Amino acid sequence: MSRVWNFSAGPAALPEEVLRQAADEMLDWHGSGMGVMEMSHRGKEFTAIAAQAEADLRELLAVPADYRILFMQGGAIAENAIIPMNLMGEKRVADYVVTGSWSQKSQKEARKYAEVNIAASSEAGGFASVPAMAEWKLSADPAYVFTCTNETIGGLEYPFEPDLAQIGRAEVPVVADMSSHILSRVIDVSKYGLIFGGAQKNIGPAGLTIVIVREDLLGHAMPHCPTAFDFKTVADNGSMYNTPPTYGIYIAGLVFQWLKRQGGVPAIEAQNVAKAKLLYDFLDASDFYENRIERACRSRMNVPFFLKDEALNDAFLAESKAAGLVQLKGHKSVGGMRASIYNAMPIAGVAALVDFLRDFAARRG
Ligand code: PMP
Repeated sequence: MSRVWNFSAGPAALPEEVLRQAADEMLDWHGSGMGVMEMSHRGKEFTAIAAQAEADLRELLAVPADYRILFMQGGAIAENAIIPMNLMGEKRVADYVVTGSWSQKSQKEARKYAEVNIAASSEAGGFASVPAMAEWKLSADPAYVFTCTNETIGGLEYPFEPDLAQIGRAEVPVVADMSSHILSRVIDVSKYGLIFGGAQKNIGPAGLTIVIVREDLLGHAMPHCPTAFDFKTVADNGSMYNTPPTYGIYIAGLVFQWLKRQGGVPAIEAQNVAKAKLLYDFLDASDFYENRIERACRSRMNVPFFLKDEALNDAFLAESKAAGLVQLKGHKSVGGMRASIYNAMPIAGVAALVDFLRDFAARRG
């Protein structure tokens, strides 16, 4: 068996330790005589797995007691509808901060359920930066302010936490799509009304969606909101109103335990800072490659870069693949290359990429 360095944006590389443990437990989980995929979600084995996963996630992110953790399905894209259906309540308007493709998609979907006010947008600058909070123009009485704190496609990450107290609007809940950087850095959950993300980047397999929501935001769903997507129903039933994505929750739980063994979020954040620095410092020093995002807003997780001579793109992709470095092609809407370096990517993988980049530039430059 030989494993590659996998820079996929998602579904993405998982910690090898986790995959080995899952393989060992595939046929017989802890002497139960069955694999996790075969278990009733209501049996004592699986309810213990789900409870442990939830407790570990709560510990890793220091989630306060008045927040509920929900294990849902539908991915982050479904949340773009589920969130307004649950949070609009009696309000008319929802505010959106648009910083790239994902928040753009979110505000478009919300228009089916709410009047959308674009509170700020960095579109005019090609989504190369995050608008400073002082520039956000909130509406008079929004149900919430929506943010995407890491734009996976553009490679843009908030260099600050969107704390509305700083602009005198602490009463408005902040919603954050953290799909592609959840658990990669320390956050203060109490600054948000709702945090959500698909699991398939930093957490586990696709099919599991994590929602962390403040309790006072439950119970306001629109009458036509599907029952399975009403946050209160999901919370009241311990994420088991419908059959949850059991195997995804199990793998997420193994990833949470792996993360705790690494020293938790502060320790993985230090590694993520070091990995990103290694790659960006190399790109910045090179006259062969470039990254076009404003320095302060560069994502630690998703690093888009361009070869200055784009005629070499195909050769770059073919040769990197032959060297065991895969999934480096940029998103079709951006072009160029993108290296996603989530929690599970060790610094050795980033070092292997930098070695390849240097070697390719030396040969082709
Ligand atoms: N938001 C962000 C920030 C993402 O990165 C993605 C997936 N790449 C999505 C939303 C959509 O997620 P899904 O396909 O799981 O619905």
